[in-house]
Amino acid sequence: MTENQTKIYKNKLVNIETYGCQMNFSDSEIVGSIMAEEGYQTIESAENADILFINTCSIRDNAEQRIRKRLKEIKRMKKDNPNLKVGILGCMAERLKQQLLDEEDVVDLIVGPDAYRDLPNLIKTVESGRRAINVLLSEEETYAEIEPVRLGSNKISAFISIMRGCENFCTYCVVPFTRGKERSRDPETILNEARDLLAKGYKEVTLLGQNVNSYSWESNATAVSFPELITLVAALSPLLRVRFATSHPKDISDELIKTIAKTPNICYAIHLPFQSGSNDVLKRMSRKYTREWYMDRIRTIKKHIPDCGLSTDIIAGFCGETEEDHKQTLSLMERVGYDYAFMFKYSERPNTIAQKKFKDDVSEEIKSRRLTEIIDLQQVLSLSANKQNIGKTFEVLVESFSKRSKEDLAGRNSQNKMVVFPKKDFNIGDYVIVKIKDCTAATLIGEAV
Ligand code: SF4
Repeated sequence: MTENQTKIYKNKLVNIETYGCQMNFSDSEIVGSIMAEEGYQTIESAENADILFINTCSIRDNAEQRIRKRLKEIKRMKKDNPNLKVGILGCMAERLKQQLLDEEDVVDLIVGPDAYRDLPNLIKTVESGRRAINVLLSEEETYAEIEPVRLGSNKISAFISIMRGCENFCTYCVVPFTRGKERSRDPETILNEARDLLAKGYKEVTLLGQNVNSYSWESNATAVSFPELITLVAALSPLLRVRFATSHPKDISDELIKTIAKTPNICYAIHLPFQSGSNDVLKRMSRKYTREWYMDRIRTIKKHIPDCGLSTDIIAGFCGETEEDHKQTLSLMERVGYDYAFMFKYSERPNTIAQKKFKDDVSEEIKSRRLTEIIDLQQVLSLSANKQNIGKTFEVLVESFSKRSKEDLAGRNSQNKMVVFPKKDFNIGDYVIVKIKDCTAATLIGEAV
């Protein structure tokens, strides 16, 4: 529940479990808001809930297997709470539709990512003892004017969803099928959401979209691009840090890079998934850029923002990947020197273009070995990147206590690196200048100056 909302609850409780990407976490906050309008209070545990929603991810097979396992646990839980209604939301709901209702008798409700406004009607159906489903995708829905309920928030940073869907059709990816056509949200509603967060004391927002570079809004002869939108959000207050995710390498423009470089409160951190260092593999993935194009984008970023934090996504063992292709991935990692990376084995997803067109012909054993080599290299690169920060000072936005000690605080610098330092008189939410004295591969360790 947001601070200044006063709701009359009907003593009904909903718990939302969220899996997968930041977009899902943002969507769960929209669902929380729709449920609050219906008199449901969001609680943190499923134990006493009337409704349990599971917001799911389909990006890899093991993400779906995790949900199947969770449903088995919920089945046991339902013995103690037989009135509990269970709803599956998100990508797995959209991908499997009726099949999921047929296969999982514990599930009462299936709702796709564009159908959350229909939740009040669907819940009425479920409350009357029937099962319900709505998986219609929309070409317009952006939930533009819905003020999200901030779930599990540290009251310092929040996500703002600026667009939905994706039309890039990378051959391995289910997202264009589960989240539908790309559509951008009215910039005025985005700015209102950011203003509201600022008024509530938030210090950082992350603008979210599957490919933020293709954000585009046109109305009454006014057009707003992503660099313009992020500039407008950053102009709301110099005390508001602005981040964004995710950029597609084919679309990241010089204009955006220069905008970041010249705007002090847009963070110096870019997540630019390269997926593979081999042009042959990139072509089969239909990523629509080459290794050379990608390296040109990195050079441009480094030229305009020399101390920019860089992160990426990497897939090991995509269809047809040879040892030479894999070596090219390792060499690209070394050339860029990423601060961190999300690294996975290729997982074939039903009905994707890759599943229809290519053979998943790299053995599990080879995929695992290649992934290990990628992870080991990234560990070395992260440590080396962090070591270069020893002796430097950074402005850190404090997010929490350190996991290890209440005597230390933890926060991020502009480059999105976690910094830990002694608490002294500082508090969560403060901006603190910290000098870095030591590091691990994951954390910078310093002292306030
Ligand atoms: S850009 Fe490619 S990988 Fe990213 S969501 Fe769209 S289709 Fe999937």
